Amino acid sequence: MSTIAVTGAASGIGAAVCKHLEAAGHTLIRVDLRNADVNADLSSSEGRQAAIEQTLSACNNQLDAVVACAGVGVTAPSIGLIVGVNYFGVTEYLNGLEDALSASGKGTAVIIGSVAGSHMVATPHPMAEAMLDNDETKARQMAEEFGDPAAAYAASKYAVTVFGRRKSVEWGKRGMRLNIIAPGAVETPLHQASKEDARFGEAVKNFVAPMGRAGIPDEIAHGVDFLLSDKSAFVNGSVLFIDGGMDAMVRANKF
Ligand code: NAD
Repeated sequence: MSTIAVTGAASGIGAAVCKHLEAAGHTLIRVDLRNADVNADLSSSEGRQAAIEQTLSACNNQLDAVVACAGVGVTAPSIGLIVGVNYFGVTEYLNGLEDALSASGKGTAVIIGSVAGSHMVATPHPMAEAMLDNDETKARQMAEEFGDPAAAYAASKYAVTVFGRRKSVEWGKRGMRLNIIAPGAVETPLHQASKEDARFGEAVKNFVAPMGRAGIPDEIAHGVDFLLSDKSAFVNGSVLFIDGGMDAMVRANKF
């Protein structure tokens, strides 16, 4: 059985992931703003470093897997927060746990991206480039100046997917694996808040997958189960769309 850190563990997809992994007998280190084993704010560097320190102490510097679920949507209190949590809250936390993942001899990670990230592929926004340059101040400033939470969300998910794929090349050589899940709409508090938002509600409600429904958190957790298991031992650097066919509908010729 493995020791696995899960961020965003207190709600939605992260909570479902924890339910599955716990039922399979794994030891969990839940990370979230509150109601977790590690209560920390992944939107700031201080919070991320505290999360890393407490996670390392909880796992004795040897960690089998990380599932990076914590994220905020278009209704976040500020646009900069979208960049801070969805990109830097994933990348700084994962970088800080790299050696502990390597120490386990089979470190694996799954990043929860989004189908929204693939909409940026053709023309990556400069704010995504600032994220990939690891320049948080610039990326946050560009996101605030651009003033569109949906663009910041898509850019953060595009950038975190590129980060994950680049990192998987490095990790593959060290016997570690990293994959990304790109969910479509999933019934969670984040999705509910987006549907109720005056600016984005209509667009979110109209963003319906070919299968005609939103997913449920368990359907994303099943993907995580697979990507953390030995059944996916040769899967590395992949983006697994769990989106009812949304990505295929939007860009069938890109894969
Ligand atoms: P959710 O709001 O139910 O859960 C998100 C969790 O992240 C919460 O427990 C929250 O407290 C935590 N979190 C937020 N900011 C944090 C911070 N600064 N520090 C620590 N923890 C923080 O949302 P969800 O829908 O389960 O989202 C999980 C992930 O899935 C997110 O990355 C989201 O972008 C992604 N996603 C969701 C959907 C969807 O339709 N629900 C679609 C695609 C991708």
